Amino acid sequence: MARTAPGLTERFEAKFIPEALTGCWLWTGALSRLGYGNFWNGERVDCAHRVSYGLYRGPVGEKKVLHRCDNPACVNPHHLFLGTMSDNTQDMVRKGRNFVPREQNSRLTAEQVKRIRAAADTAELRALAEQFGITYSGAYKIRRGDRWGHV
Ligand SMILES: [Zn+2]
Repeated sequence: MARTAPGLTERFEAKFIPEALTGCWLWTGALSRLGYGNFWNGERVDCAHRVSYGLYRGPVGEKKVLHRCDNPACVNPHHLFLGTMSDNTQDMVRKGRNFVPREQNSRLTAEQVKRIRAAADTAELRALAEQFGITYSGAYKIRRGDRWGHV
């Protein structure tokens, strides 16, 4: 955080309970939909674990603050580490949230290509694209002759 509002540390430290077994500092204040602590930092609601890192470890900047302990409600600064956007992206890939476009037009039969070529108008082309599981722009390119020129 760029600066620390007066009384912020005191307010923060009144809102967690250390958990003896795990060492996690369990947030007792409001939690977000995803289970992260919410904390008013004097300007806006921030993630409590981000505030913790800023208070006890150092500036967070644009980086992500990630949990070693996999407990989103934990604000123990020693359970937190800084990650980059690329760590975050890899995390998303691992969790299957990224979008992988399917290979376009690779599974069309010659018959399907001919039907796309013969499409009378945009509506029919769109319907055929949907039916064959390809994008409209892919179907459009086929009709224009950019693809499947050998058929
Ligand atoms: Zn923890």
